[in-house]
Amino acid sequence: MGLTWYWSRRGFLSSLAMAASTLLMSRRSSAANRAEPGDTRLSGFGQSGNPYEELGVTTVINAQGTMTMLGGSLIRPEVEVVMAQASRHFVSIPELEEAAGQRIAEMLKLPEGSSALVTSGAAAAMQSGLAGILTGDNENLIKQLPDLTGMKSEVIIQKSHRNPFDHQLRATGVKLIEIETRDELRMAVSERTAMMHFTNFANEAGQIKVDEWAKLAKEYKLPCFNDAAADTPPVSHLWDYIHIGYDLVAFSGGKAMRGPQCAGLLIGRKDLVRYALLNNSPHEDTLGRGQKVGKEEILGMIKALELYLNEDHDARSKEWQERLELISREITQIPGVSTSFFTPDIANHVPHMQITWDARIRWTPQQVAQLLRNSRPSIVIGGGEGKPGLAMNSFMLQPGEDQIVAERLSQILRDHSA
Ligand SMILES: *Cc1c(COP(=O)(O)O)cnc(C)c1O
Repeated sequence: MGLTWYWSRRGFLSSLAMAASTLLMSRRSSAANRAEPGDTRLSGFGQSGNPYEELGVTTVINAQGTMTMLGGSLIRPEVEVVMAQASRHFVSIPELEEAAGQRIAEMLKLPEGSSALVTSGAAAAMQSGLAGILTGDNENLIKQLPDLTGMKSEVIIQKSHRNPFDHQLRATGVKLIEIETRDELRMAVSERTAMMHFTNFANEAGQIKVDEWAKLAKEYKLPCFNDAAADTPPVSHLWDYIHIGYDLVAFSGGKAMRGPQCAGLLIGRKDLVRYALLNNSPHEDTLGRGQKVGKEEILGMIKALELYLNEDHDARSKEWQERLELISREITQIPGVSTSFFTPDIANHVPHMQITWDARIRWTPQQVAQLLRNSRPSIVIGGGEGKPGLAMNSFMLQPGEDQIVAERLSQILRDHSA
């Protein structure tokens, strides 16, 4: 919106850049002396080193995975440093978003004509991505959302792909049209159809799979979207869906990629990504103004992505498996306790361990999970994910926490053995 304003503003800013760089030079020496986060000695709030405890909020050992309810994931120290660097300067956010998107597209080696946008999360990427498809760069339509007068008004989705995150699609005002078969899809397509939406983790559940969905969208000349929020690892998913024909794909930054918690990626067609930004903060009078993403998150996301792309993913996976095996060795010494290992095909595609026990232990899985949650340190472990017993993964555990989980879990199970 206000494209003329935007471009003239950019011109103005670049002429400012010369002056700013001279200023920066003279300030660099003092900036170099400035403390990095962690070096600053605090008084008052935060002085104990654990501000959560100061509020009386218990931190937990996370054996459940990248749950937004638990704070997602923990950023790496390098990301923390870049976010602190980001926090020390003012910058044009639209200009930064564009440069960041270009850098991310290069890092992912996306095809020509692709771009990326750092959003406040995958949910925000879904909402702004769809908003952009609906409005294009029409300033009046952008202001008008979620009133869809004059715009397309329907999104087609497989019935089994409905999930709580489609609220972000509905927030634009569109109606979700549920289909199950290819015939139903064909009949649902009309001049009202704005987009075809795919929920990546539901791939198995739907009759139309991920590659065919993109192919059919091409046939019907409709934009298609893939919500792949939690679907790294494998790292290749970051570009796979673009290559099979999705126009837009959303990822969470604050899950396995360990970017800032309030960050996500929208990647795909350059024009659609640009329209998404026009519907998002910092632009005012937009549907996405509430989805603010800060300069710290934008730069932190680039750093997190760089680290994630350079990581030895096989070594990581092995390490996660070894942590689970350490816990398994300890708890299976208790009569009646057994473990097995599995890796979900999609979404949290990391080693998991299922823990079951027989009648010799009198507690239900729910009771054991509650005892772990109430213990100090507090441990959060998942339910069986549709299987009996408890299930856990280890990719969010910090060094040494596998041993703590092993000890606490053994103690609880042993204490309640017949
Ligand atoms: C986590 C998740 C989201 C939301 O991602 P945020 O980055 O937390 O906004 C959307 N869709 C799916 C399938 C998810 O798992």
